[in-house]
Amino acid sequence: MNTALNGPALSLVNVSLEYPDGTSTLKALDAVSLSVRRSEFLSLVGPSGSGKSSLLAVAATLVKPTAGLVILAGQDVAALSEAERTSLRSDKVGIIFQQPNLLPALTAVEQLLIREHLRGKRVREGREKAAELLDVVGLSEAAHKRPHQLSGGQRQRVNIARALMGSPTVLLVDEPTAALDHERSESIVRLLRQVTDEFRTATVMVTHDTEFLPLTDSVATMRDGRISRAVVPSAQPN
Ligand code: ADP
Ligand code: MG
Repeated sequence: MNTALNGPALSLVNVSLEYPDGTSTLKALDAVSLSVRRSEFLSLVGPSGSGKSSLLAVAATLVKPTAGLVILAGQDVAALSEAERTSLRSDKVGIIFQQPNLLPALTAVEQLLIREHLRGKRVREGREKAAELLDVVGLSEAAHKRPHQLSGGQRQRVNIARALMGSPTVLLVDEPTAALDHERSESIVRLLRQVTDEFRTATVMVTHDTEFLPLTDSVATMRDGRISRAVVPSAQPN
């Protein structure tokens, strides 16, 4: 059986992450279990310091947990070599942070193409895909603009399109609207809803905007490195 086809796109099972903290250790993640399937849009909420970004870093295979299992697209991440992990991340994971981190000298379309170039993909296919994605995020007209010619919301749209270039199964998004006003924040969350449906990504979004939770399928709350999960967003107390 191919678990990559049938199982959740991302599973964390009893994942703990400890950081040295003076003479003792700090548990950033404390026996966290979570599964996200394709086409599911999960919000991750909780106070600052509760472990949300740590969870994304572990899910992105950027940080190794102290204990527990991370299963990404059917693969046990701990069983992979460093090179295999890098390639799994590049093939399966799209990462979107609060600050778009675009390269100042490149146009929107070039921001997307450079990633494909670094992944060793063909330029022609990359161009078609980049044009399609810029259209999806509503930036066809801005394809040849550089970051300073774009608004904050437009830069975040480029960031989202770039994360989708590798056709990821898992999309990890850390506070994508923290730098945006209300109207732009809502349109970014709506866009993430749309791409989750259209590309069937398993999307995990860390957010402080509880009013946008109804746009997502489920909500998990973190507190002191522990997680709890509610299925119906509208039933979440704010
Ligand atoms: P959140 O994203 O919910 O604000 P984080 O995952 O960033 O929380 O942090 C969880 C805890 O882990 C915090 O106490 C934070 O100080 C600690 N932490 C995060 N990253 C590191 C690190 N690289 N080294 C040491 N402690 C860290
Ligand atoms: Mg954080």
